[in-house]
Amino acid sequence: MSGQFIPYGRQDITQQDIDAVVEVLRSDFITQGPFVPRFEQQIADYCGASHAVAVNSATSALHIACLALELGPGDWLWTSPNTFVASANCGLYCGAQVDFVDIDPRTYNMSVSHLAEKLTLARRQGKLPKVVLPVHFAGQSCDMRAIHELGGEYGFRIIEDASHAIGARYQDQPVGNCRYADITVFSFHPVKIITTGEGGVATSNDAALAERMQLLRSHGVTRDANRMQGDATQGWYYEQVDLGFNYRMTELQAALGCSQMQRLDAYIARRHEIKQAYDHALSDAPLVLPWQHADSYSSLHLYPVRVQDDSDQLRRRVFDYMRQADIGVNVHYIPVHTQPYYRELGFSEDMFPNAVDYYRQAVSLPMYATLSDEQQGRVIDTLLKALR
Ligand SMILES: *Cc1c(COP(=O)(O)O)cnc(C)c1O
Repeated sequence: MSGQFIPYGRQDITQQDIDAVVEVLRSDFITQGPFVPRFEQQIADYCGASHAVAVNSATSALHIACLALELGPGDWLWTSPNTFVASANCGLYCGAQVDFVDIDPRTYNMSVSHLAEKLTLARRQGKLPKVVLPVHFAGQSCDMRAIHELGGEYGFRIIEDASHAIGARYQDQPVGNCRYADITVFSFHPVKIITTGEGGVATSNDAALAERMQLLRSHGVTRDANRMQGDATQGWYYEQVDLGFNYRMTELQAALGCSQMQRLDAYIARRHEIKQAYDHALSDAPLVLPWQHADSYSSLHLYPVRVQDDSDQLRRRVFDYMRQADIGVNVHYIPVHTQPYYRELGFSEDMFPNAVDYYRQAVSLPMYATLSDEQQGRVIDTLLKALR
């Protein structure tokens, strides 16, 4: 009865993608050639940002974004507990302290009212954050205008974790244009909207931030004569002017990314068709379906439903039943502050109750552009049986 395994998300690789990568393999440069700048330009143009810096993962992009904003020991970074651990870890990499802002129970994004409240308190305690890092959960933008306004009032910088949200729009403009942020980060892991295998990019409208991130992704080494102290006329010469990393993206990844970008809008359109079919088929089921803010056109990275039950017993039953039927449902996310590593830093479960309540009921249904109507029908039938 089960049939082929249906994952919660997966990549789409076409012959055109394969040809693009093979072309690079046959060329002179498999790293540090023409495709990385081409991919960066494509992303910058698509998002309407002045700069894009491609790296080997979104995790790396978050790290160098924090460093570019000079986050360090003695500083605070605030993010959402309803995210992948990387959104918080980037603060710790820099020696800063991390705290969380509880989520809005409808969007599951960082709550602006909780943020405002926490800022008032932090000002009194002299512990204001240097960086606030909102996460566009499931592909729906946070309320960036409001967060940006608070940034002006309290003097923090903003990094958008848009790992889920390439192709999404906020107030009719592309996520990643950095209108309300210093830096926006995207992920190209295979479960995300488009893929480069592993990979990420940081967009910005600030030339100095972009330049700093370019330096940090490649050892802090420069060949720019203007930045050197020594004799730059020596042809072999370079200088290390900062402590950087090797976070570079390869040409193979960038060529795949350029090819995938051509289908981005079609992918998002198909995800919206799938969403509509889920919305329709599940409207009478005992579930809370994803709610969409009028300001947001989501990229629909995820389709998370909540099973309405006070314990997590029903969620567990639904999850196991679906997995038994070869349907790869998943749970996004185990709240970061409940991870053993973060508990060790002093966090306890009850600190961010909205994130924990949501987590106890959440199940992400399969959602990806190549999910067929027939496969989706199987997901829906199985879910309705599981809920009976
Ligand atoms: C996937 C993801 C990341 C990490 O992306 P990588 O490219 O795998 O490093 C960070 N934040 C969020 C919200 C993610 O979903």
